[in-house]
Amino acid sequence: MAVLVTGASGFIALHVINLLLSQNYKVIGTVRSQDKVDKIIKQFNNPNLSFELVTDITKLDAFDETLKKHSNEIDYVIHMASPLPDEGNTDFENHYLLLAVNGTKSVLSAIKKFAPKSVKHVVMTSSIVAMLNVNDDSAITTEKDWNPITWEQAKTSSFLCYFGSKTYSEKAAWDFLKENKDEVDFKFTTVNPVMVFGRQMFDEDVKDTLNVSCEYVNKILYLPPTEKLSQDYAMSYVHVDDVALAHVMAMREDRLDGERLLLSAGTYSDQLVANSINKQFPQVKGTIPAAIENCDKPTIRYDSTATQKQLGIEWKSFDVAVYDIAHQALKRLGKL
Ligand code: NDP
Repeated sequence: MAVLVTGASGFIALHVINLLLSQNYKVIGTVRSQDKVDKIIKQFNNPNLSFELVTDITKLDAFDETLKKHSNEIDYVIHMASPLPDEGNTDFENHYLLLAVNGTKSVLSAIKKFAPKSVKHVVMTSSIVAMLNVNDDSAITTEKDWNPITWEQAKTSSFLCYFGSKTYSEKAAWDFLKENKDEVDFKFTTVNPVMVFGRQMFDEDVKDTLNVSCEYVNKILYLPPTEKLSQDYAMSYVHVDDVALAHVMAMREDRLDGERLLLSAGTYSDQLVANSINKQFPQVKGTIPAAIENCDKPTIRYDSTATQKQLGIEWKSFDVAVYDIAHQALKRLGKL
């Protein structure tokens, strides 16, 4: 059984690949540079892992060669390649919106052209930001909701265009399914996580700055003790191990066909991250923002009861999620 994983060099993807390899799947990853291929092949050192280079996912035939070459092997596809928020890139329409939408269309159309009957299930990594209401902070988000963000609104900032890129690329996938229901046989599920925390798959990839989501914890280690942190701005987290598991369950279980899975383990604030680090790593007390006792937990804005029932995953706790990031970072800094 082989699984095609797009964006295979990413933080979440490496955990998904690790889980797939541990369950004896063959994995074919797509990445955009040979350097990454060489590095990841060395890191996993597993004969069941191979790669294809797909350098420009904005091209609508970007994945054709890969699907053509492996059409007899690929049973499942996990589509993760997508641009993450990057304040340095202000080409909002091309770098985020069109890239994410075309990347999604190009994977699905390659399956339709070369493996319309043999691919069994496609899982797309979407996001909570494709569900939440960007115009109404007070709304409670569920699996049924769509972000009402407009294309024009999405072109106005790097965060909004990330929101738009996830919303419009997920919509493109569901539209593709409607338009091609008689031509493709695969089942389809989206995984929509909130902020994903956890260790980097390989210690050598830990740097001063981490991937976008883990950086929300890592940055606290570099702030001075005098820094005042937000206590009431609610964010939500889920552990990368649970996210990887949800992807593999979504891929294997036919009953999850047509579902959007909202993965959220709970809410937190920057202050609660500092509290958790101070509690679990007493050696950094006094060098990072101090803990504040009796600090309120910000209000939950997501209701993921339906996903919880479908997956039955017991989410890893906030302390574990914070620990896994801080432990690896402090180890590298020689502060354990
Ligand atoms: P990473 O930045 O670590 O991984 C993103 C992946 O997408 C990388 O493989 C990256 O390739 C690839 N990619 C980015 N831009 C392009 C591009 N222009 N062309 C081709 N490939 C590209 O992020 P995560 O692992 O955190 O995210 C993985 C997926 O999960 C994304 O779809 C993201 O939107 C989604 N997600 C993430 C959440 C989180 O909190 N981390 C929460 C919700 C959803 P390269 O290594 O070459 O840059």
